[in-house]
Amino acid sequence: MTSVLVLAGTTEATQLADLLVEEYDVDVLSSLAGATATPNYRAGRIRRGGFGGTDGLADFLLRHPFDAVVDATHPFAAVMPFHVAAATIATATPSCRLLRPPWTPTAGDYWIEVHDLPAAAAALGPLGARRVMLTVGRQSTWAFVDFDAWFLVRAIEPPERVPAHHLVVLSRGPFDLDSERALLREHRIDAVVTKNAGGTSTEAKLVAARELGIPVIMVDRPAQPQAMMVSGVDQAVAWLDGTVGLGSAPKP
Ligand code: NAP
Repeated sequence: MTSVLVLAGTTEATQLADLLVEEYDVDVLSSLAGATATPNYRAGRIRRGGFGGTDGLADFLLRHPFDAVVDATHPFAAVMPFHVAAATIATATPSCRLLRPPWTPTAGDYWIEVHDLPAAAAALGPLGARRVMLTVGRQSTWAFVDFDAWFLVRAIEPPERVPAHHLVVLSRGPFDLDSERALLREHRIDAVVTKNAGGTSTEAKLVAARELGIPVIMVDRPAQPQAMMVSGVDQAVAWLDGTVGLGSAPKP
C-alpha cells in the first residue's frame, strides 16, 4: 500500500487526503499544526502539532518512512515549506509543494500590493480608510491594532489581538458574491485588507470590491523553497502517480 504524508492546513490538503484514501486506497497521514480547534478533516489518519524543526521532521520520516510527502500547507506558511524541503532531501523522500496560484488583478481592480502586514497597515493611512474589512487570518490581526479606524474582522476562530474599534465575524468560506457584496455595503467598507491566498473559496470579496470601487490592500506571499511545485490537487495526484505509483486506476 502506498503511503503519503500530507502537510495540511488547506482545502487542497483535505481534498487530496480524501481523494487518495477513497479513490486510490493510499495510506494517508495528514499533519496539522494544531492551531485550529475545529479543522475540516475526514479521510485517512491525522496527527497534530509540530515536529520540532527540520531535524525533528527528518527524524520523524526516518522512524515512519513514507513513499512520498506532499507539502500542502497554506501559501502564507512561511517556515514549514523550508523544513519539508530540507527534511525530505536529508531522508531521500520524494516530495512536492502543492501551492495554489495567487490571485492576479484584473480590469477595474484597485489593488495596493504590499510585502508584509506592517506595510498593509501603513498603506491604510494614505487611502484615508475609516471602515476596513480585515481578512488576514486570526494570527495576523496584531499588525492593525495601532491604526485608528473601524475594522470588520473576519476569521474562522477568534483573533487574539484586534484593533480598538471592531466587529469580529466568525465564519469559514466559501463565500459567495451576493453575501460579500451585501457585507461590504452593510458595513460601508472603504478598504479591504487580505493576504494573497489565491483559490476560489474567498475570492468573491475581490469581485465585490471591484464592483463597488473599493481599494484592496493585497499582502504578497512569503518566499518559497526551491522544490517540485504543483498547483492543484489533480497535479499532485499526477505527480504521485508518476513518482511512487498509485495503481492502475481509481477504485470504481
Ligand atoms: P509556519 O510558520 O510555516 O510553521 C510554523 C511551525 O508550525 C512550523 O515550524 C511547524 O513546527 C508547525 N507546522 C506548520 N504547519 C504544520 C503542519 N501542517 N503539521 C505540523 N506542524 C506544522 O506555518 P503557520 O503560518 O504558523 O501556519 C500553521 C498552519 O496553519 C499550517 O499548517 C498552515 O497550512 C495553516 N494555515 C496558515 C495560514 C497563514 O496565513 N499562515 C492560513 C491558513 C492556514 P515544527 O517546526 O515544530 O515542526
